[in-house]
Amino acid sequence: MTRILIVGGGIAGLALGRALREQGVVPEIIARAASWPTGGTGLYLPGNGVRALGALGLADKLMARAVRMSHQRILDHTGRRLAEIELSKFWNPGRVVLIGDAAHATSPNMAEGASMALEDALVLVQMLAVYGSPDKALSAFSERRRPRIRWVQQTTR
Ligand SMILES: Cc1cc2nc3c(=O)[nH]c(=O)nc-3n(C[C@H](O)[C@H](O)[C@H](O)COP(=O)(O)OP(=O)(O)OC[C@H]3O[C@@H](n4cnc5c(N)ncnc54)[C@H](O)[C@@H]3O)c2cc1C
Repeated sequence: MTRILIVGGGIAGLALGRALREQGVVPEIIARAASWPTGGTGLYLPGNGVRALGALGLADKLMARAVRMSHQRILDHTGRRLAEIELSKFWNPGRVVLIGDAAHATSPNMAEGASMALEDALVLVQMLAVYGSPDKALSAFSERRRPRIRWVQQTTR
């Protein structure tokens, strides 16, 4: 049986852990921080992040706590509107792979970091299920994620 060690208990690490458990693989997670201090924080989560949390079986919990946003407006320092987005339209080498911010930190302007971390976790588990061998799964994961990440990074620059 494949043994998996996840280093880092952030959004990517915990999402990966949850998705692996659903596939019957129980990974070991090690984290630098001894607790998860979340007080006073909030996360702006676009549609792809919401969808990814749904795929992790967390849609109900998310909806119970979330506040739905229908538009995002981007203004310059004078208050002039630069863009308006209708959010409802959005919806490695070897045996180590980097996911989430460690692999591809994105600009905070469009709040895609958490969503990309969640997507990474889901795609990685999918690839591990499709390919028996971790080597193949990890390279298939990188192949599949690279164009998507590049697109998000270019779009949110
Ligand atoms: C102020 C702020 C606001 C943000 N707002 C948003 C937002 O609204 N929407 C959004 O989508 N994104 C937002 N982001 C970005 C988002 O938080 C990140 O993209 C997301 O947390 C990435 O998840 P991750 O798991 O890759 O990294 P992290 O959440 O940073 O998790 C990494 C974890 O690994 C641990 N770690 C690191 N090194 C080691 C080690 N050597 N050994 C063990 N553990 C280790 C860390 O302690 C941490 O717990 C924001 C970021 C900041 C800083």
